[in-house]
Amino acid sequence: MDGHPEALIDLGAIKQNVAALRRHVSGAQLMAVVKADGYGHGLIPTATAAVGGGADWLGVVQIGDALALRQAGLTVPVLCLLGAPDAAHEEAIAAGVDLSAGSVPLISQIAAAAQRAGRPARLHLKADTGMSRGGATAADWPALVAAALAAEAAGHVQVTGIWSHLACADIPGHASIAVQLAAFRDAVELAERAGARPQLRHLANTPATLTLPETWFDLVRPGGAVVGLSTLPGELPGWLRPAMTLRARLIQVKQVPPGTGVSYGFRHVTTGRATLGLVPLGYAEGVPRNASGAAEVQVRGRRWTISGTVCMNQFVVDFGDYAVSAGDEVVLFGPGDSGEPTAQQWADALGTLSYEIVTRFAGRVPRSYSEVTEPQELAASPGASA
Ligand SMILES: *Cc1c(COP(=O)(O)O)cnc(C)c1O
Repeated sequence: MDGHPEALIDLGAIKQNVAALRRHVSGAQLMAVVKADGYGHGLIPTATAAVGGGADWLGVVQIGDALALRQAGLTVPVLCLLGAPDAAHEEAIAAGVDLSAGSVPLISQIAAAAQRAGRPARLHLKADTGMSRGGATAADWPALVAAALAAEAAGHVQVTGIWSHLACADIPGHASIAVQLAAFRDAVELAERAGARPQLRHLANTPATLTLPETWFDLVRPGGAVVGLSTLPGELPGWLRPAMTLRARLIQVKQVPPGTGVSYGFRHVTTGRATLGLVPLGYAEGVPRNASGAAEVQVRGRRWTISGTVCMNQFVVDFGDYAVSAGDEVVLFGPGDSGEPTAQQWADALGTLSYEIVTRFAGRVPRSYSEVTEPQELAASPGASA
């Protein structure tokens, strides 16, 4: 029904978020992380808007995403954050995509791929400074640096960056932040003493970009903040704006008597005569099943709680004696400035992060975009980075 249900993506908000983040970090460069289909906002439109807003770099997890950015005509530097064995390293190197490595065997694979590609691989060495996810631990770091420098001396790689990731940047004052920061400084110093000349040292995700200037170094890597979200407790800074609005229309409205059980299991029962409205979105489209009786939606300017069990492709709202009609718009979440719920409020109601809410709808609900820029127009646009 005329574009509903849909995820409406405000690309102007993405541009402005990136421009504001860049001002916030003054001298540092900005890599817009657009993994997971641009946090569910669409890889190419999100990346293009971010570059239009001044992003110097793009960050992805899969090499396939990096190649898709190149194919779309995006020419800014791209880093593939997850170094995986047996990935399409040769194609990535040929497309000028920067790779990450946190183990010696991976450096050997990338060096071999660079020889096949006929050009050196641009490599960011990943230090595990305490998160215990990817990267080389302090014990393994000297061997990683030595392998990278040997491959550099042989002309197979160029060490362009050294980086790490923070485990608890969104827990203000967490003791691990200072510990990881010191470990990162040690890792950089050891690599530089060994002869590495990385242009970029980077550590900061969204919460660190927003609150920890000492983690900014040469480049920050926000993802959530690009689309107007954060994992920090409390309010977003006023200069960030959520870019996704998820909306549908009531496809059926009917009157039922008091005491009517609603949806599977009758987890909701009407208290008086009630108007029920049917919303054509369910857990197959990304609405969490445990949003039943918990998350709110906005209809006719008021907030309503989802009534009873979220089904596979639909849920019901009990509007009591309030008048609504089939065709009325239902906003599940949006930027919040018209009183609609936000993805953060959905996350708070469901005990998760806003990131998990917005990524759930990717590939399951059609998207529409406002303020579209094509990659080819970027060079001419005023926000494009020099
Ligand atoms: C996802 C990710 C980011 C971005 O995290 P946000 O909190 O969304 O800003 C940055 N760096 C790495 C390595 C990531 O995996």
